[in-house]
Amino acid sequence: MAGLMALAAPLPAIAASGPSKASEWSLGELRAADVRVLSVGYRLATANAPFCRAIENAAGMTLHHIGQYPDAGAARATFGFAGDYAVLALVADGPAARAGLRTDDAIVSLNGMPLAPTAEELAAIDQVAAYRPIAWADARMRAALDKGPVALGILRGGEPMTVTVAGTPACRSRFELRPSDSYGASADGDIVGITVPMLAFMVDDDELAAILAHELSHNLLEHRRRLNEAGVQRGLMQQLGRNARITLATEIEADRLSVWLMANAGYDPRGAIRFWTRYGRQRGKGIFSAPTHYRWKKRVRLFEDELATLQASVQEPRGWYPPLLAEPPAPLE
Ligand SMILES: [Zn+2]
Repeated sequence: MAGLMALAAPLPAIAASGPSKASEWSLGELRAADVRVLSVGYRLATANAPFCRAIENAAGMTLHHIGQYPDAGAARATFGFAGDYAVLALVADGPAARAGLRTDDAIVSLNGMPLAPTAEELAAIDQVAAYRPIAWADARMRAALDKGPVALGILRGGEPMTVTVAGTPACRSRFELRPSDSYGASADGDIVGITVPMLAFMVDDDELAAILAHELSHNLLEHRRRLNEAGVQRGLMQQLGRNARITLATEIEADRLSVWLMANAGYDPRGAIRFWTRYGRQRGKGIFSAPTHYRWKKRVRLFEDELATLQASVQEPRGWYPPLLAEPPAPLE
């Protein structure tokens, strides 16, 4: 769970198997979903690190801040929160877990500095107020990990301890579950987001990996920056003429690259085909009739073509080199 932002591509509402509204999930269920999103995202980002231009050191953990919960009492009852910041989610075999960090450890300091933002630091963050403290801490943590091992001062059962975490190379992107009630997934250049109803629609991690890999591809291919530089307008204008044509080209690129990212991470790329076939059959309308996206049958053919290209190419020891990452991205036109 993290910042609520406008979604780049809201998807139409559909009937899902589990509860589809974030408000119907307990905090414990939301945490389990956070672990799932973090873990699949971590696997995609670390497995593809040899091919990414922008790299960071990932610790395989998600923090949260008491202030991001509307009901602080309920958050304390579920998560403890011995301090303002605590460990929300860990990748089971990730660097933070291996270093000894545990879920619900309170984080009080980072390399000897208290983890406590000033009012000015918070005011400078372009986020809704409730998410500024966690955005601040995430930025601190990422910057520190990129310089080397990080000494975290923690509180566990009232006892102060220090845990030193060294990150592992990963494609630069964060992965977040959004506590929204609409279907959607998004990429803002830095963060991949997926909403609770969208996650509930996934039948397995291959399908989840397909959606996260598509959004991660948008970030790795710097689509947001390149669309801005090409002067592509957002909103209704994006559905028209040149705006729509260039946007569609970025969607095709993201679908193509996602196949390679999934294969390198050990996910079945056919998860994308299964997901879009099921989703398309149930809906087949909304955004899929928009000129910025292929309709689902055409999209499935695109995945099949790309998979055939991958299967005909040589797998290096470190994985399949995605053709779209071989050269710096050219301007969109
Ligand atoms: Zn997309």
